[in-house]
Amino acid sequence: MGFQWNDMHLMVRDMMKKFCADELVPHLDALDTEQMLAYPIMRKMFDSFGIAEMSMGQFRSRLAKDRAKAAGEPPKEKAEGGGGMMGMSRGDVEAMEAIPTIELSRHCPGLVTALGVSVGLTAEAINGRGTFEQRERWVPDLLTLEKIGAWAITEPGAGSDAFGSMRCTARQDGDSFVLNGQKTFITNGPHAETIVFICKLDNGDADWKRRPVLTFVLDGDTPGLVRGPAFRKMGMHSSPTGELFLQDVRVGMDRLLGESVEAAAAGGRSGAKDTFGKERTGVTAMALGMVEQCLEVSVDYARTRRQFGQRIGDFQLIQRKLAIMEVARVNMENMLFRAFDNLTAGRKVSFAAASASKLYCAQACMDVCLEAVQLMGGYGYMAEYRVEQLARDAKVLQIYGGTDEIQMSQVARSLLGPDAG
Ligand SMILES: Cc1cc2nc3c(=O)[nH]c(=O)nc-3n(C[C@H](O)[C@H](O)[C@H](O)COP(=O)(O)OP(=O)(O)OC[C@H]3O[C@@H](n4cnc5c(N)ncnc54)[C@H](O)[C@@H]3O)c2cc1C
Repeated sequence: MGFQWNDMHLMVRDMMKKFCADELVPHLDALDTEQMLAYPIMRKMFDSFGIAEMSMGQFRSRLAKDRAKAAGEPPKEKAEGGGGMMGMSRGDVEAMEAIPTIELSRHCPGLVTALGVSVGLTAEAINGRGTFEQRERWVPDLLTLEKIGAWAITEPGAGSDAFGSMRCTARQDGDSFVLNGQKTFITNGPHAETIVFICKLDNGDADWKRRPVLTFVLDGDTPGLVRGPAFRKMGMHSSPTGELFLQDVRVGMDRLLGESVEAAAAGGRSGAKDTFGKERTGVTAMALGMVEQCLEVSVDYARTRRQFGQRIGDFQLIQRKLAIMEVARVNMENMLFRAFDNLTAGRKVSFAAASASKLYCAQACMDVCLEAVQLMGGYGYMAEYRVEQLARDAKVLQIYGGTDEIQMSQVARSLLGPDAG
């Protein structure tokens, strides 16, 4: 049988629900009006559930395994059931990690975005490509939320064509590098203390597309680096988004991920691609949480709201909305469960499969959130039931981590083959 939530998952889910009710829901207005940052709530969650300790345990064992591999030691025998945390399979562990994403996204997908970028993207980018010293230096503070991270690839002129149009540069000067350029739409940018900065080597090649891609790790207060204030935007108000300006920022080789231009250049694009892949899978869990919430609120409303002398849930047009929402929920859950099964079986998910999943989930989530607003009429448009906030938040799922159009072209190109236009 494929993946199903087990008793432990359900227990953690109930604990998360209680945490959200006690610690998150009372602050939603303040978060949505940007009078409060989400970081203290994240830290409270980490304390309440011992998440920092668990993440550090996983980090230490991964580091030890990688060190042993690098030293040429034979891999240790895997424990029964995949050898994951407490004997759980990899899918079960991933499912455990998806539960906070699902539950928090029911109320505050912005918090999940800010958290995911800091812990998922930024820490993972360093952990995946850094030397052992670099991983020890920066990853623990990110995993424990001692520091907030940002992952910066997008530029004012380089969005979907992130690599091709990239104009941020690193000029080598002896043992150091001089970094210049501007990044935009960077989640946590206004507050980030550890920044993964992706740029092109200034090697004079007239064809910018051919220039090697390098990744640096910067402190938020590095001289020459300015973090702009948070942009005003449509939704995700609990996730600050801003610009980064770099003018002659001088850094040593120790801040180049991989610590050698050749190693860094060889992994630069694929490292960023791994990060895109992870981002896309995370969107499935976020969308599921948002859809579950919209459905729950909508069913409740359809049962109780009366017009023309009957429950609105008795109108077939309202039933149609609920049925379409439920189909989206089931599809998203199945996609997530399949991802857990793939992990347990050690099957790698292709970039195109992650894109297909992100494309479907982002579109379906947007549709469901808007239908929830519609189902509730004027009450849906008001802030009280929060579906209007979820509808505003949902839109960006179709934009960040690669737009719908880019996911479509990636899926289509995987069908047509590498020489497709
Ligand atoms: C809230 C938010 C948070 C973000 N966080 C981060 C972050 O933390 N770090 C980071 O680096 N970036 C981040 N981004 C940037 C995000 O990844 C980009 O906005 C996204 O990749 C799209 O780039 P763009 O906005 O420049 O749009 P463009 O690439 O200019 O696209 C404009 C339109 O053209 C379409 N288009 C472009 N190319 C094609 C094509 N080949 N075929 C068909 N249509 C095409 C697009 O789909 C879109 O509809 C964030 C963005 C937002 C809105």
